[in-house]
Amino acid sequence: MNRVSSNEDKIDIYSREVLITRDEINYRIEQLGREISQDYQGRELHLVGVLNGAFIFLADLVRHLSIPCQICFLQASSYKDQQVSTGEVILMHNLDLNEKNVLVVEDIFDTGLTLQHIKEDLNMQKPASFEICALLNKRITNKASINVKYIGFEIENRFVVGYGLDYAEKFRELPHISCLD
Ligand code: 5GP
Repeated sequence: MNRVSSNEDKIDIYSREVLITRDEINYRIEQLGREISQDYQGRELHLVGVLNGAFIFLADLVRHLSIPCQICFLQASSYKDQQVSTGEVILMHNLDLNEKNVLVVEDIFDTGLTLQHIKEDLNMQKPASFEICALLNKRITNKASINVKYIGFEIENRFVVGYGLDYAEKFRELPHISCLD
């Protein structure tokens, strides 16, 4: 992953390239909502948001679903105030997903390590079905071989922030997605 060169305290985020605008995000989430609603017609969906990064995406996505759903969260940490993965993924949750139709909602599918851990962990509960939705899919080599059924946008290997995604806990509040590198 590309590193951010600037001192984080001096980043003028509004001067950085906007990769995906607020309108583009809204439009795509509407499409995803329609697609997911069709696929889960007649079934109750259990959405599992991955904190912290997916909280805005999940909140917007559920408002475009036209099927009954339940919403819960798990916490996953792999990046700790830095842009390079430590390779270690820590999951925290208190979920019971046995026999449920589970859709994990993640901010970004980068190496896939986090999603792989989540999948292994949640599948131990024997859900009725298990799928993943990620807002962003980063084009990198050596991704974990994991099926992400719903993808919002394909992006290059850039470090992005905004719309829930942070750099050292900053910039989550941006309504669009910007590049930091
Ligand atoms: P993975 O395990 O797929 O490599 O990484 C998953 C997590 O890394 C994401 O949920 C996200 O928190 C973080 N991450 C990966 N790429 C980026 C990025 O470009 N920007 C930000 N803010 N976080 C990222």
